[in-house]
Amino acid sequence: MACREKLRLVGIAGSRCLSTVVVTAVAVGLAAGGFAYLAYGQAQERPSQEPPRLAADRHTDPRIAKAIEEVSADRIRQTIEKLVSFGNRSTISAQDEDSIKAGKGIGAAREWIKAEFERYSKECGGCLEVKTDTFTEAPGERIAKPTEITNVYAVLRGSDAKQADRIVLVTGHYDSRNSDIFNGTDPAPGANDDGSGTAVSLECARVLSKAAAKTRFPATIVFLTVAGEEQGLNGSKHFAQMAKQQGWKLEAVLNNDIVGGNLGAGQDAGVVRVFSEGLPAAATDAEIQRIRKLGGENDSTSREVARYIADVGRSYDAGVKPLLIFRLDRFLRGGDHYSFNQQGFAAVRFTEFREDFNHQHQNVRSENGIEYGDLPKFVDFEYVAHVTQLNAATLASLASAPALPANVKMQTKNLENDTSLTWDASPEAAAYEVVWRSTNAADWEYVQPVSGTRATLSVSKDNEIFAVRAVDAAGHRSLPVVPEPQR
Ligand SMILES: [Zn+2]
Repeated sequence: MACREKLRLVGIAGSRCLSTVVVTAVAVGLAAGGFAYLAYGQAQERPSQEPPRLAADRHTDPRIAKAIEEVSADRIRQTIEKLVSFGNRSTISAQDEDSIKAGKGIGAAREWIKAEFERYSKECGGCLEVKTDTFTEAPGERIAKPTEITNVYAVLRGSDAKQADRIVLVTGHYDSRNSDIFNGTDPAPGANDDGSGTAVSLECARVLSKAAAKTRFPATIVFLTVAGEEQGLNGSKHFAQMAKQQGWKLEAVLNNDIVGGNLGAGQDAGVVRVFSEGLPAAATDAEIQRIRKLGGENDSTSREVARYIADVGRSYDAGVKPLLIFRLDRFLRGGDHYSFNQQGFAAVRFTEFREDFNHQHQNVRSENGIEYGDLPKFVDFEYVAHVTQLNAATLASLASAPALPANVKMQTKNLENDTSLTWDASPEAAAYEVVWRSTNAADWEYVQPVSGTRATLSVSKDNEIFAVRAVDAAGHRSLPVVPEPQR
């Protein structure tokens, strides 16, 4: 075939040539919202070029770009310094009335965070619902006696009644620790771990609530700060269980923990790591068998969120690029996203490129000329601002996007080298895109716009992994959905 001869693709030559006999590729003139959708011509004939490379497909909503410009490194610095001023924010530190009044301990931190969310809400005409989730944690390995734990969160309800039950969430933990996990009194500044992640949640809330009046977000955004992380992910565990029990349609969780960009040797301020699980923690044995059979080990919903963040990183100038790490967390370590993974939710973790363990979980001290302790002076506030911009752009993109296409199927009745996909219409979608990549590629490589709810491509399902995403009239993309086989 001429097309195949022309293509001469590296690797699987010809396998990416489109069968335009069946695929109706359209130039979806999605100019609404002021930005152009990729123009892929009305394909009446077999195109002589390969489909658009996804990596070159930058799609930026100018309203979102404008909103993230409001992120302030100075505000973030103030937030982190305020959190540090509470002295020790260990989950087992003080939370009685007198300590709150004195501005010491986790109770004071909790009240301050709540007041901050309420202040942002006031500024946007009451657009945020500020809530707490309080429970008593029973004694355990890292908790000596029954301890009250409170998660504080703000809800920016979706503007579209039909879509407001779809939720995206950003979280950080506001508890801290020093060298001794049972010490609730001596300084535990926790500027980076995790004052930085708490600041990301707060600043996202401030900026996106402000933007919501002009840039309406059809889906709901939740800004969460949890406690109990250092004691055993207690706060996030309770919150994720609540979300599961209440049937939340939680599409993505962004956990920011240690995003301070510690100023020290070996740091790369241009990069933030994004960790995502491979095999889902919540998968049953039968589901694991199925994943194995389909070769789906690299396509958990959490990993699709990570790839979505990579897409956002290409589309917006956040000042920091996501570095996708295909692992649940740093080696043998964990964090609050795992609590959500355990309940079957897609969740990823953001962490600076290189941690400095002298400035983490350490008593503040100087020894042999080395300074220990998690102090604000080691935090790069500009870096935290960039990570906040990447988070805010991701939340805004997801909350603006149409619902994920449902019932995505790959036809497998006949043995054939073409790939046929079908899906149900997503109510708010103006069009769809089939994306695909080689089995050994980390991220989506190719994209094919489609106007209807089916596509056939002369690309072999044996060699590629496919997914379908919905696109609205303004060009916002949903998360991609990997098809299930259908006989
Ligand atoms: Zn942490």
